[in-house]
Order: sequence, then C-alpha cells, then structure tokens
Amino acid sequence: MGVPPHMFETTIAGSLPKPPWLAEPNKLWPQWKLAGDELAAAKADATLLALKEQEDAGIDIVTDGEMSRQHFVHGFLEFVDGIDFAHKVEMGIRADRYKAMVPQVVGDLRLKGRVHATEARLARAHTSKKLKVTMPGPMTIVDTVADRHYGDRVTMAMAFAALLNEEARALAADGVDAIQFDEPAFNVYMDEAAGWGIEALHRAIEGVKVTTAVHICYGYGIKANTDWKKTLGAEWRQYEKVFPALAKSRIGQVSLECRNSKVPMSLLKLLDGKDVLVGVIDVASDEIETPEQVAGVIGEALKYVAKDKIVPCTNCGMAPMRREIANAKLSALGKGAELARRKFA
Ligand code: ZN
Repeated sequence: MGVPPHMFETTIAGSLPKPPWLAEPNKLWPQWKLAGDELAAAKADATLLALKEQEDAGIDIVTDGEMSRQHFVHGFLEFVDGIDFAHKVEMGIRADRYKAMVPQVVGDLRLKGRVHATEARLARAHTSKKLKVTMPGPMTIVDTVADRHYGDRVTMAMAFAALLNEEARALAADGVDAIQFDEPAFNVYMDEAAGWGIEALHRAIEGVKVTTAVHICYGYGIKANTDWKKTLGAEWRQYEKVFPALAKSRIGQVSLECRNSKVPMSLLKLLDGKDVLVGVIDVASDEIETPEQVAGVIGEALKYVAKDKIVPCTNCGMAPMRREIANAKLSALGKGAELARRKFA
C-alpha cells in the first residue's frame, strides 16, 4: 500500500543559523559581517543555501531561514516609520524574563516599503517546494518595543497588525504559500492572548488568501528561557488557556513545542480542526534526535490530532544554534517524518 505523499509534510519554525561569513554565529542579535551591496549579496547567497539545506533534508514547506533579518522582531521593525532605532532603551521583556535593548515607538506607524519582498521573491524563484515566510505577531512586537506614542498596548498592537497585514497580502502576491506569525508572548500573557492577541492576528490575516499560521513556543534555547522553564513546574499548561480560543479563530495552523517539553500532549486535543505543527525537534539541546524519537513524538500527537492535520516541525527557530547541529537536526526531522509515514500510514 502506498503512502499518501502529503501525509506528515514537514516544515521548520522559521530560522536557521546564519553562516559565519554573514553574521556573528550563535547569537540572537548578531552583528552583520558586511555592509551595503556586499551584505545584500551575502544575504541572498545565505538564503539559497538555507533552501538547499532544507530541501536536502526532505523538508516539504521551506523558509528563507530568516537570513536577511538580524532578529525576528527587529527585522520587521527596521522597515517601520515611527520607530526610533537610534535611541534604544533597556526594557524587561516577556514579563521581565530578560532585558533587551529595544527601539522606541515615537510616532504613527507606517511601512517604509516592502519588508520581505527581496528574500521571498528570491526564494520563490529558486524552490518548487511550498514556501513559508514568518513575521513577528502583533502581541510579541508590542512586547519588544518601548511605547512613547500610543499609550495603550492594544491600540499599538492593532496598528502593527495593520502593517503586518499589508506585508502579508504582498507576500501572498509574491507566491508565498504560508504566512506564519510568531507569538512567544502568547505563552506569557495567556488571558490577553486569548482576547486581543487573537483579534490582532485576525487583523493581520484579513483578506490573506494563503495558509496562515501562528507559532507559540517557550522561546529559543538561551539561558534566560531554560531558567524560566525550570520555574514552570512539572506540567506546562500555558497552552490550555489559548488553544480553545485559537481553535475558534480564523488562523489555519498552530505551531507548538512538544519534543522534550513538559506540555501535556493531551492539550493538542484543544486545537480541534486546526493543522498542528508539532515540534518534534528540540532547539534547546545539541543532542541530535534519532528518526525513531521524531516518529515517537508524531505517534504521541496522533492520539490527539487527526493524521492529516499533523505537520512535523521544529520546537522553535534554530538561529542561535551551531550550524552543523541545526543541519543534523533538519535531517533527523526529514527522516523521522519518513519513518512515521511508513509506521502510521
Ligand atoms: Zn519559537
């Protein structure tokens, strides 16, 4: 009996490590190694490599690896008018889990132009796979800038959502198949996430005709996050508050963290009707998953999610990881999904 080719299509949360000739390795806010035209050319080269590495690993829905942005939030903000990047201030973010130097919102927000057109069109021209582009979600953006203008988080989130919507529609027109919003803040401000957080996402996807997704995780594998996770107890139930609201939302897919996580898998049941991007690769550990371990997590998810709704994925972005580790993990993801197709078809 043949295995349906579309079953357990794989994808990644979004980012891959940048090559050392492009930016400082193993950092969340790395400095670029080049400038001007040379930097633009290097970003393009790195994007093509990221595509190739995903294709070789058997990833079905590929991304640009986020090679063109310094950081997943600030990479968007750089294209927004009304933000003062020259005078960053220190702010506790994610409910003060860690301090970051953040830019300030000082006026009405407006896009300066296209944000991800260059890398999206380049990627579209060079892969026949499904292409996904990620952007920060409105709530997470609001949690990563200092407001000196709007005076209200919800109003500012809706203003950002309008800009995200503008870019999302343009990306769809560029031929992008899926647009994902990253909302780690949903796991921090659960009540607000289920309310205005999702409303802001709805604003961001208004009129967007391609697949839409939201990624909700417990953060990159950096120390502030692993320390925070230790305080969350034996079972992580943050998703429990947000999932029922997401199940009712107009967002198509939900990406979440499962591998080596203390999230009870039974919570996946709360996402009834949605495609679930099941995190089967731990980005907080350098240990490479075996295909059997990957298939094992998929098997667990199958108890709560329909077969045709499971999309094996990484727990989070791999930007701060070592490149050879990330590549080995990509390969484990591809092989594990293949094994799962044989096991569970
Ligand atoms: Zn994440």
